[in-house]
Amino acid sequence: MKGFNVHFPQGWDCHGLPTEVRVEQTFKIRKNDVPSEQFVEMCRKLTAEYIAKMKQSMNLLGISSDWALEYKTMEPSYYKLTQLSFLKLHKTGHLYRGEHPVNWCPRDETAIAEAEVVYQERRGTLYYMKFGEPNQSIEIASTRPELLAACVAIAVHPEDGKYKVMVGKTVTVPIFGQKTRVISDDEVDPRYGTGAVMICTFGDKTDVRWQKKYHLPVIKAITEDGRLSVEDPRFKGLKAEEARKKIVAELQANGLITKTETMQQNIGTCWRCQTPVEIISRPQWFMKTRDMTQKVVDWAGKLDWVPPFSKQRLIDWAESLDWDWVISRQRIFATPIPIWYCTKCGRVIIPEESKLPVDPRKDPSPEEKCPDCGNRELRGETDVLDTWMDSSITAAIHAGWPNESDLFKQLFPADLQPNGLDIVRTWDYYLMVRSLALFGTAPYKTLLINGMVKGTDGRMMHKSYGNYVVADEAIKKAGADALRQWAAAGGSTGYDIPFRWNDLEYGKKFLTKLWNVTRFILANTTESLSQQKPSRLSLIDRWLLGSLQNLTKEVSLAFETFQFNTALEAIRNFTWHALADDYLEAVKHRLQSGRDPADLKATQYCLREAILTICKLLAPICPHMSEAVYHQFPSEATKSIHQESWPKPDKTLDEASIRNGKLLLDLIAHARREKSAKGLSLGSNIKRIVISTEAEHLHILKENEETILRTLKADTIDLERLPPNSNQGKEPSAGFKVEIVA
Ligand SMILES: [Zn+2]
Ligand SMILES: [Zn+2]
Repeated sequence: MKGFNVHFPQGWDCHGLPTEVRVEQTFKIRKNDVPSEQFVEMCRKLTAEYIAKMKQSMNLLGISSDWALEYKTMEPSYYKLTQLSFLKLHKTGHLYRGEHPVNWCPRDETAIAEAEVVYQERRGTLYYMKFGEPNQSIEIASTRPELLAACVAIAVHPEDGKYKVMVGKTVTVPIFGQKTRVISDDEVDPRYGTGAVMICTFGDKTDVRWQKKYHLPVIKAITEDGRLSVEDPRFKGLKAEEARKKIVAELQANGLITKTETMQQNIGTCWRCQTPVEIISRPQWFMKTRDMTQKVVDWAGKLDWVPPFSKQRLIDWAESLDWDWVISRQRIFATPIPIWYCTKCGRVIIPEESKLPVDPRKDPSPEEKCPDCGNRELRGETDVLDTWMDSSITAAIHAGWPNESDLFKQLFPADLQPNGLDIVRTWDYYLMVRSLALFGTAPYKTLLINGMVKGTDGRMMHKSYGNYVVADEAIKKAGADALRQWAAAGGSTGYDIPFRWNDLEYGKKFLTKLWNVTRFILANTTESLSQQKPSRLSLIDRWLLGSLQNLTKEVSLAFETFQFNTALEAIRNFTWHALADDYLEAVKHRLQSGRDPADLKATQYCLREAILTICKLLAPICPHMSEAVYHQFPSEATKSIHQESWPKPDKTLDEASIRNGKLLLDLIAHARREKSAKGLSLGSNIKRIVISTEAEHLHILKENEETILRTLKADTIDLERLPPNSNQGKEPSAGFKVEIVA
């Protein structure tokens, strides 16, 4: 409507843990119960079904994405591009493979990124345990006695007098018997527990830092499926939780637990299944993102963020990261990592870009033998890529990458990146780091961040809370345009909006009103509505046209600044009040037969102008109803309202008419109230109306006597000058005194 050729692609991010988990639930299997190719097929099928459903809802909602540009990340044509971006970043040294501790979900048996760890408050027990021999012991408090087997050192604070003599000594770990050294480090909190802590590989991120700092050995006590891997047959193979119970019982039996305390813990859990995450070290692929923090922060500051506070989300997140982004996953339904290895010397073998897409899980290596050592035994990578590796290049792919044509330069960086507040630290962050690494620029110019939809109970909508509403149900009950109004008017951009059926009802009512006004206008028009601005317009006509100009300005500005609620409220208020309550009531008499034809023409022109302008302004929010109303006006040549030009306000605004027209309408409203206060119906005739007002207003009313008389159905009118100050304290209708003589 504003004359821009908008590129609005629609893609489906298919891969990932949620899909796999849903397939496992739907078919009541675990991923390893069936051959992996069959599992992938099940994932693809289920994903396609969900896409079909979502697409249908989107179409019902009137979302105007360009379906010719539709893509799915699970299609080989797409994951070929993900693989290409991997090879390019590998070439430029942004990627590396290494064995580093990473967050790990033992239930889903995969590495997860820091962005996928959700911290939850849980109650836990702090166990005070005796380490060492009776003559040289040290007491240590920990919530995770099952990690005793992985204890590699004991740390105390250097200033802690209690332990000064212990530093440098060797202490035996209870049950498992390994000898550990006592070290001192500033990071120990002497007030936590006993002030002495065990360093395990790995209990948390501090352990990871200490292990590196003091070159401590790594004992892998927890397996990838979260079980204890120790020689001791009493504990071997137990899940962490069971192992903890058994180890505590064993310690208690030996009098090695001196005290227990319950405490609130902040536990890192898997975003998908809420299982507490472990920190596990195994070879993984990483992207060097830690080095990019300053760049991310600098770029974030150069972009437009709506609302502005969302920018800080990205900055805080980037600055909080202390590990590189782990991009490999131990899953199945994902983009394969395009890499083979030499089983002898470990050399990485990379396919040619033209050979993509590849699946090293089943495709043979592109080289017959290792170029370094000549070994013919080459193994394809079985790990796959994090889903965010697919979705963090969307902005470039939308612009046609890897074809960096003129069109690409026009479409990249994207003008607008719209997404929810919850994925600023994932989608927006990963898009940023990948784009900086691949293209040296941010992938977007403006970020439009929406809040989340909350259930009617004020909590986030969640299946397990039972507080969710399916979009289709809302559309069926109230209509797509009512649902869209709720979304637009629900709150300021960036803030959460609760779902309220009442809001949808109100939206529906508004559309009914708009439709009724349209029908009234059409019913009172004998000939096709005039499109030519008449030369003679009454005050009230000029007031309406002037107010319409103001509305256009206000709504245009609101849309430009993404304040959808402001835009919609202005349109709805104008339609209900200015058009229906004020103008229509004041001009009804002019539409009756036998009236002045010039008057009739002017009225019809104004009504048509008002309703069409309202519809154009409303078209982005209510595309269906605005189109339906638009088609009621047969003289329109254009096919669709969505092809109409956006209304442009005149350069000069008739301020005097807006002011004086408002005065006249206030007077009429005031007189109507007086009429009904006297027990008279609005349609009943009255003999006389006496109006007193300030001198400067008298001439305005005098010029519009005809309108006053006809609207109020009065035979005669007396206009009197109000003595100065006599209207004090009579708000809101100050300025008038009206007397009705029946
Ligand atoms: Zn999980
Ligand atoms: Zn080799």
